[in-house]
Amino acid sequence: MIYKRSSELFAEAQKVIPGGVNSPVRAFNAVGGEPVFIQRAEGAYLYDEDGNKLIDYINSWGPMILGHAHKPVVDAVIEKAKKGTSFGTPTQIETEIAQLAVKMVPNIDKIRFVNSGTEACMSAVRLARGYTGKEKIIKFAGCYHGHSDSFLIQAGSGAVTFGTPNSPGVTEGTAKDTLLAKYNDLENVRELINANKGELACIILEPVAGNMGCIPPAEGFLEGLRKLCDENEILLIFDEVMTGFRLAPGGVQERMGVKADIVTFGKVIGGGLPVGAFAANAEIMGHLAPEGPVYQAGTLSGNPLAMAAGLAMLKELDSNREIFNSIDEKTAYLHTGIAEALRENNITHTINRLGSMISVHFNDTPVVDFETAAMANNDTFRKFFHGLLENGIYIAPSAFETWFITEALSYDDLDKTIAAVRKVARDLK
Ligand code: PMP
Repeated sequence: MIYKRSSELFAEAQKVIPGGVNSPVRAFNAVGGEPVFIQRAEGAYLYDEDGNKLIDYINSWGPMILGHAHKPVVDAVIEKAKKGTSFGTPTQIETEIAQLAVKMVPNIDKIRFVNSGTEACMSAVRLARGYTGKEKIIKFAGCYHGHSDSFLIQAGSGAVTFGTPNSPGVTEGTAKDTLLAKYNDLENVRELINANKGELACIILEPVAGNMGCIPPAEGFLEGLRKLCDENEILLIFDEVMTGFRLAPGGVQERMGVKADIVTFGKVIGGGLPVGAFAANAEIMGHLAPEGPVYQAGTLSGNPLAMAAGLAMLKELDSNREIFNSIDEKTAYLHTGIAEALRENNITHTINRLGSMISVHFNDTPVVDFETAAMANNDTFRKFFHGLLENGIYIAPSAFETWFITEALSYDDLDKTIAAVRKVARDLK
């Protein structure tokens, strides 16, 4: 495929935007090469600036669960835009989408809308601190909760008691309140709790991880965290920015039957517009301003266009729940096909999948946490990524991402993808 125009646009962009992108992973640093500039998208396909058509497995990193430019969503946005794009006052549609979200998601009474997943997680942690009167939090190595300071903390070797900043600009004062644990390791969490008795406000995690590739929770892991939180008066925060309205109408809480105290959302809930949200029972949410003292605000929060897109999306998911089975089945079909194609060519790999989240790691041990994910062969991934792209298949340009399957993908698209994997695997051999 030819990417001449993309390359020219990237050169122009780099002169005025750091790295030429407004979010780092887009720049292809993990896989080398230059990013593809997209002109438009429809259904399962992206059309780039050079006229190439790509089958899309990123789907804006999750929101496009029904495919790109989905008509009910686009129509809702257009109709709303004609009536003004922002007022900074309450609007009826905010209540409508809140009512629907509260109906679809278990264990929540109230929801507050923000503009990104980052804001949702940042605010959820502030609320947990304000509610419990405690300051420390536990996060898991390899989980991503946005780019707010408290979350940019990564494991060194193994779990350490105090995190160290892994981005310059995060102060040590902030870092020391974020304790790192190993995903899927309950014993590690128990040790951290015991070493910090009475000081922990919350444990935050991706209940199905998607930011180190896809890593499902081990049997009993989420239930174990729930129990530890109950025993120690710690709030459990499920970051369902990826999994919410994807793995089930009610997210992981519904799918796995484990209750969270605070849940965060992003991606699907905004239908592709900038939306995040956090939710809890009425008592916890009652601590939020203006009802309570924990401050949180936003000039564009609950923006009418964003709410129109989100509401159109949630309405469709709520009224056609067969979609959730359908995307799971498509993902399972893809899983089988990719595994066969790689196996036939003796390519060492691990495929993790839960529902419509799936990822391929090129290593020979099970991938259960950040450490095992990081052991995968990145050189093979890099070749795999570029091989697929050459064949018109666009997956995330990093092994530390999940693929997102959409209802817009046809079985013909999936077969084409599997055929491309087979071809690339032959070359990799
Ligand atoms: N939490 C999770 C689980 C995410 O995957 C992301 C983004 N990929 C975020 C939070 C942050 O969301 P945003 O990029 O909208 O700030």
